[in-house]
Amino acid sequence: MALSEFALIERYFRRCGAHRTDVRLGVGDDAALLAVPGGSELVAAIDTLVAGVHFPHGSPPASIGHRALAVNLSDLAAMGARPAWALLALTLPEADESWLEEFATGFNDLARAHGVALVGGDTTRGPLCISVQLLGHVPAGEALTRGGGSVGDLLFVSGTCGDAAAGLAIEQGQLETEPEARASLRERFLWPAPRVALGERLRGLASACIDVSDGLLGDAARLASASQAGAELGWADVPLSQPLLEVLGEERARELALGGGDDYELCFAVPRQNIARLTAQLPPQEWRYTRIGRLRTEPGAVVVRDGSVMEFSHSGYEHFR
Ligand code: ADP
Ligand code: MG
Repeated sequence: MALSEFALIERYFRRCGAHRTDVRLGVGDDAALLAVPGGSELVAAIDTLVAGVHFPHGSPPASIGHRALAVNLSDLAAMGARPAWALLALTLPEADESWLEEFATGFNDLARAHGVALVGGDTTRGPLCISVQLLGHVPAGEALTRGGGSVGDLLFVSGTCGDAAAGLAIEQGQLETEPEARASLRERFLWPAPRVALGERLRGLASACIDVSDGLLGDAARLASASQAGAELGWADVPLSQPLLEVLGEERARELALGGGDDYELCFAVPRQNIARLTAQLPPQEWRYTRIGRLRTEPGAVVVRDGSVMEFSHSGYEHFR
């Protein structure tokens, strides 16, 4: 690389993200030293983005930096944890300074918005690949998990679903739209907004939580299965954005909302006895979440439409008798 590895780290990553006093030693030594608050558990997640697999080749570098952190913030949000420290393993084909500048800006802006410090990493040459490890903390014993739900709990999802999948299709030239809807759906793919504040506030209210990264129906099924239950979702209850409805029409919009990926919303279960507290402490209009169904005894996840059960197949959704 024209730019030495040392200079690259120094220029783009030494002062990246928030400044935190609990970082006793950050970028520059052999490892970082972090002061974990007493009475809390350390929460750790890692996710890798590979060019051409997790984002199209030629994606805006700032969006890649944003997404590499956002997917991990979403995992910590699902645990009800507060994010604090990140490590960045960067594999680059070349030290392209304008690419690095934009990538670091995208990462830095989101990290600062969530008070996350970049405390270390690794830099190597090879096909473009970004791994971010995110560390955070949660009061001991209070983390949300996928497996805490019970039959009868109500299921909710934050925001709207399917937008990012449509945004990716637009990015890849597979979907034509009006400019306004196009901008809004692309934004949902390129700049996901992880629901960190909601996740933290759901501690003590939700029984189980998962972040929606692989499609609402599949992720609801994973939460249900971890909770030794099944999930029943209402076809008409899945929240859709206006741009998605305009672009796809209701039928296809609901299919994409159930099966599309990259939403980074939270899907969570709430016991009936907590519903009054939930809506009082987190007014749904303000916190933007919607009831989509419930946990039930029969395993698997189903969608109920006009009283009959639909089943997912690889070719889409089919009526099932
Ligand atoms: P070592 O050989 O000890 O792993 P490196 O040369 O890989 O040291 O890294 C030097 C310092 O820079 C370490 O503190 C490491 O955590 C940090 N670092 C390396 N790459 C990155 C990166 N992409 N982002 C943030 N910190 C990095
Ligand atoms: Mg190293």
